[in-house]
Amino acid sequence: MASVPRRALAMIPAGAACAIAGFARARIANSATIPSHVQMPPPLARFSIGRFTVTALVDGYADMPFSWFTGRPRQAIEGLARVGFAARPGGIRFVFNQYLVDDGERLILIDTGPAGAMGDSGHLPAALAAIGVRPERIDAVIVTHAHVDHIGGLTAGGRRNFPKAILHVDRRDVSHWTDPANRAAAPDFLQPSFDAAAEMVRLYPDLQPIDGEREITRGVSVVDLTGHTPGHIGVRIEDAGQSLLMVSDMLFPAIHPSDAAAGFFFEQDPAAARRMRSRFFALAAAEGALIAATHMPFPGLGRIVPDGGQLRWQPAAWAHEG
Ligand SMILES: [Zn+2]
Repeated sequence: MASVPRRALAMIPAGAACAIAGFARARIANSATIPSHVQMPPPLARFSIGRFTVTALVDGYADMPFSWFTGRPRQAIEGLARVGFAARPGGIRFVFNQYLVDDGERLILIDTGPAGAMGDSGHLPAALAAIGVRPERIDAVIVTHAHVDHIGGLTAGGRRNFPKAILHVDRRDVSHWTDPANRAAAPDFLQPSFDAAAEMVRLYPDLQPIDGEREITRGVSVVDLTGHTPGHIGVRIEDAGQSLLMVSDMLFPAIHPSDAAAGFFFEQDPAAARRMRSRFFALAAAEGALIAATHMPFPGLGRIVPDGGQLRWQPAAWAHEG
């Protein structure tokens, strides 16, 4: 595999190589004209699903070491990342995409990011401010599961970040993450999730537990994707023949959907997660479902498509949609 690009490069005449170097210099020179003190605005993407307007916002990102992936040897994970040009010194980059759903009457936020608990994160409040949405305008938050990178932004300093929001969380995750016995048996890296879950139930006493697949509000419904955690759910947004399935941690960058056997060490039940992933990948590919996934490259929007006997991620167009 590696010999192909090397051969291709060897065929580029010396003059062309100079031209490429010159292009690189020109790009650097141009970028130096942007004053360094100018803060880049947070990345935002907006698309329509029938009457819904969905905005993708980013809380940040973190690089996950290759050794944190399960189901395959570390070298195989790194190999997949290299083939996809996604291998970084720190591992594979996970984005923390959040989705704000506007149904014309209510604002519903799906997940809230790690809010500083992992990597370079905590940018969701600035992203919301950039689109003119104050936290008290959020009517509901749907949590896909209670890992800290999805619920960290619900609270801060002993206060609710979304004072007027009704919180929806699967009952199985509420039970799991508030059980002292589970906490005592859990490894250190899961303790921040137990901390965040304790704050979540303390500060959102009006939390609405989700029991099974159901509609939360017209056109917004819960899809059971148990495995990654006991109450791991997806959210389907559907109107006028269009739909978007927000699938949270069903897909991780670089390794999915090409290898359903590969997983991540946060997974509560690796075998159950693998089974769900295999089933879901096949179904999503057959349906051609439009998917939004938390950790895929921004804005996490795409489809699972068959390609030469394998499955691959096909990013979907979003700019200037709707
Ligand atoms: Zn996650």
